[in-house]
Amino acid sequence: MSMKKLLTCPKCGTSYDVRLGRISCGKCGSPLLPKPPDTLRAGGGPGVWVWSDSLATGVFEKRVSLYEGMTPLIRAHNLERILGAKEVLLKDESRNPTGTFIDRGAATVVTAALNLNVMRLVTASLGDLGISVATYARRAGIRCKVLIPATAPPVKTYQTLALADSVEFVEDYERAVHKAERYGSKAGSMPVTARNPYLIDGYRTLALELLNEVREGDAVVLVPVGDGALAWATCQILSKFTHGVRVIGVRASSTSPLLKDVAVRKPLLMDLLRDALASTGGFILEVSENDVIDAAKTLAGAEGLLIEPTGVTAVAALLKYSGEFSSPSKVVAVITGGPARDPAVLSIIAESKGLREVQRVGFTKMKILEVVAMQGPIHPYATWKILTSRYGLKISLRSIYQHFNELLSMGLVEVVESSGERRRRLFKITEKGVEYIRR
Ligand SMILES: [Zn+2]
Repeated sequence: MSMKKLLTCPKCGTSYDVRLGRISCGKCGSPLLPKPPDTLRAGGGPGVWVWSDSLATGVFEKRVSLYEGMTPLIRAHNLERILGAKEVLLKDESRNPTGTFIDRGAATVVTAALNLNVMRLVTASLGDLGISVATYARRAGIRCKVLIPATAPPVKTYQTLALADSVEFVEDYERAVHKAERYGSKAGSMPVTARNPYLIDGYRTLALELLNEVREGDAVVLVPVGDGALAWATCQILSKFTHGVRVIGVRASSTSPLLKDVAVRKPLLMDLLRDALASTGGFILEVSENDVIDAAKTLAGAEGLLIEPTGVTAVAALLKYSGEFSSPSKVVAVITGGPARDPAVLSIIAESKGLREVQRVGFTKMKILEVVAMQGPIHPYATWKILTSRYGLKISLRSIYQHFNELLSMGLVEVVESSGERRRRLFKITEKGVEYIRR
């Protein structure tokens, strides 16, 4: 079955055969995008090629793979408990060969290059894209040049130097993209930036893997925005093949060193992305550097997933805006990458204070609930006395009140007024609270 696969222009609508190797429109110059797939048949693999019938690059015969994709979707029971959420699932892209979702796109773009007789790939990177494309280019025996800001973290720079054929240091990411597109337009070369449709093609496999989980019912999928390509690709698949799934993009608002990988100032696909998110009923949420660091600590403390902060922006949004996701039956947060390896970053995550705080939130609330269940209706002061004397908890009365307020807003306890002269707010456990303890 050889169906013609197309790339289309989002501005003027012109379509091009995938085998032409075009990355921008010949009529209006706009970047091209892969057309939505007609079929959802999963095939033989390996890696993203399980979806070859649904991919534009599936027409190519020689295929490159390092067994990327098919990453686990992990049920996060402890996060559910902390958030009082129904079902939280983590799509863990850190399991990919180079530790990020980008490997999905590297497999498809390098495959396209191999079949189109491209001699050299030129990529602009903040770190991860260059590492991934250079890795797959090695596999295919194609040369790869990486343009990377001189300020990229050393751990990423050394990986890039070890893998790429040539590395050029530039001032900033914008300059890198500009140069990559210029060098890459030469005969025999291809630029690989977030605007390359052969790269975006592979990114769509992440959403294809989610379909079985989210096809029915009201689910929210949180995807980091970064340069916009992954979030756009996710919207295209989920808006076509599901009902009632909202895709929410998460942007890191900081441009501080730790978030350089994700805090892209002007995402390359921003205009298209806003429309794509809106078509699913979704929108963009912002998180700060502190939110992201907290999320990395919480993920390590609660679920044992030690991920670098740049990979957890979706989890940060989940923690920060959890109140807004309490209604859907499922929330999927995409962990884009990668295992935390940088000693400087690890020292921040490992800072013991953060970990202990995270664990205490879960533990203290659970103990309060247990006391309320056994002794209630009960006043926060009496609860505090029990917790400090019986469990030896070192906690202020003030934070006990705070915990009660949070438990109240989570619907796990309710207020009853005491009778008698002095009216006091007492708390008793709700049915939901009882369920929570039993879990
Ligand atoms: Zn056009």
